[in-house]
Amino acid sequence: MKKIAVIFNGGTISMKVDPKIKAAVPSLTGEEIMHMVTGIEKHAEILSYNFSSFPSPHMTLEKIMELRAYTLDILEREKPHGVVITHGTDTLEETAYLFDLTMDTPCPIVFTGAMRSGSELGYDGPSNLAQAIVTASAESSVGRGVLVCLNSELNSASEVTKANSLSLNAFRTPVFGPLGIVDNNKVIYYRNTDRREVWPTDQLSTKVELVKTVAGMDSRVLRFLVDDGCEGIVIEALGRGNVPPMMVEGIRYALSRNLPVVIVSRCFEGRVFGSYGYEGGGKHLRNMGVIFGDSLPGQKARIKLMVALSRGKDLEAIKAFFEQERYLDDPDER
Ligand code: ASP
Repeated sequence: MKKIAVIFNGGTISMKVDPKIKAAVPSLTGEEIMHMVTGIEKHAEILSYNFSSFPSPHMTLEKIMELRAYTLDILEREKPHGVVITHGTDTLEETAYLFDLTMDTPCPIVFTGAMRSGSELGYDGPSNLAQAIVTASAESSVGRGVLVCLNSELNSASEVTKANSLSLNAFRTPVFGPLGIVDNNKVIYYRNTDRREVWPTDQLSTKVELVKTVAGMDSRVLRFLVDDGCEGIVIEALGRGNVPPMMVEGIRYALSRNLPVVIVSRCFEGRVFGSYGYEGGGKHLRNMGVIFGDSLPGQKARIKLMVALSRGKDLEAIKAFFEQERYLDDPDER
């Protein structure tokens, strides 16, 4: 039987409604949640660990790195076949993506959580946890990078995002859909992902900020961030990767300080590209020296830029890490 380490790390999966405040708060221990996953002993030998009971808006980059070190330690000591980590769904994609980018192991690491607390009708914690354990035990999950398993769907941490604030199928991979499913305790993969890049690091460069572009925006926020000592900026730009002309000066200011500026789109689907040559258009920004972040949402591009910066400040290396071969088809991009 496969040995699976389950690390309890809070989230709604470990919450119940407090009758006084009439809202969910952390209350269930790992043992209490595990107790509800009836019959799991037929599928795996479980090693349980209580790391935290954090709501995920309380996760910080320091805590995420602590959780990473804790997980690596378990991998080394126990040599489990797979690891399951519970996490609040609000920032789950950020922690899972950071793990995916920085953990060089074939061992399946599966993040799960719940959209409904233990007090709600239809609490989805135990079934999500059971399916995550089954996924972590599957031979076919080996070497796939970090996975996210909720609502019987398997997504890659490199691709997934929380797309709905309340539904059970909150986690989606835009455009391509899930990697696979868990059906009747069987793990079925329909596709692979080639979006995995691993850049192990134990230390994160955390002074990276995310700016969302809106109509009529100017350069004040960008200037403030540069003057405040940030080390990199991700801009969720408009559409194909365009910004209002009044933001161009702020971007130029950041680039003149040798700060990496990564452009992604605030659109839910589609990647950025140098389609437009007008002032503030993607092509114009590209000629100034910004880096394109493909189809990553801003919150994940920020994690990736932190990882890149933690390995060094060389802008060409950071650009290569973000762009891979994906922007080389256009002769002008060479
Ligand atoms: N607010 C909760 C959290 O992220 C949501 C959840 O876990 O689903 O901790």
